[in-house]
Amino acid sequence: IRVQGKIYYNSEETPVRILGTVLDITEFKRLQQQKDDFISVASHELKTPMTSLKASIQILDKLIKTNGNPDKVTQFIDKANTSLSKMQHLIESLLNVSKISAGQLALNKTNFNIGEMVNESCDYIRITGEHVLILKGDADIEIYADRSKIEQVIVNLINNAVKYAPLSRKIVVEIKKRERSVKISVQDFGEGIAYDKIPHLFERYYRVDSTGLQYSGLGLGLYISAEIVERHGGKIGVNSDAGKGSTFWFTIPLQEN
Ligand code: ADP
Repeated sequence: IRVQGKIYYNSEETPVRILGTVLDITEFKRLQQQKDDFISVASHELKTPMTSLKASIQILDKLIKTNGNPDKVTQFIDKANTSLSKMQHLIESLLNVSKISAGQLALNKTNFNIGEMVNESCDYIRITGEHVLILKGDADIEIYADRSKIEQVIVNLINNAVKYAPLSRKIVVEIKKRERSVKISVQDFGEGIAYDKIPHLFERYYRVDSTGLQYSGLGLGLYISAEIVERHGGKIGVNSDAGKGSTFWFTIPLQEN
């Protein structure tokens, strides 16, 4: 509690009147703490791929100077590229957040087939991961939206399913055309999320403690996804049962042109 104002005393120095405001700063403190934690997590998240990149470059330097094995050179170039992509992804998330804060997240809308896009995103994850992705529902749906941002939301949700349900292996992606909107859902069969954590999931920097420490991340993916969906006039949410898995979903209105 923070008290601001003036206290008036009588001649015996006993307070007789207090004028001012009493502020409950518990929420303020929680957000401040979240911000401090975020800075240390973000620095750590950037440091890890940077250290790995530096090591790859040193090894490459040696390999090139000693005319080393070309396969090894390729291997370390790939490694360096992966580290760079990780850093790029982190920096893009940070830039997205500052754009959101400044009210400058611009949408660049076009007509495109969202069914095709979901399919492509699933293919990409199938190639790079070990999970079984099952795609269900309507394939041929045109929407008017920002293609790369909607793709970012879909990839975020699928990546989270891969990351936070590593043992379940199966992920079901469903795309459904409704009267006025299209609904996309990503279901995993992992640990699920405790009931009391769900209201915070889409907050900036929020990570569930039990999962947060094990996996890398900044707690920004769902916050950015929610902003993108809401800017399109859609809704985003999650149904989750602790122990059984989670279904993250979002909708995009159809008729907006
Ligand atoms: P990040 O993955 O960088 O932590 P997100 O905003 O994407 O950030 O997710 C916030 C938190 O929500 C995660 O840290 C994780 O604890 C939880 N979460 C997200 N998706 C899932 C999921 N499919 N299953 C369980 N927990 C999840």
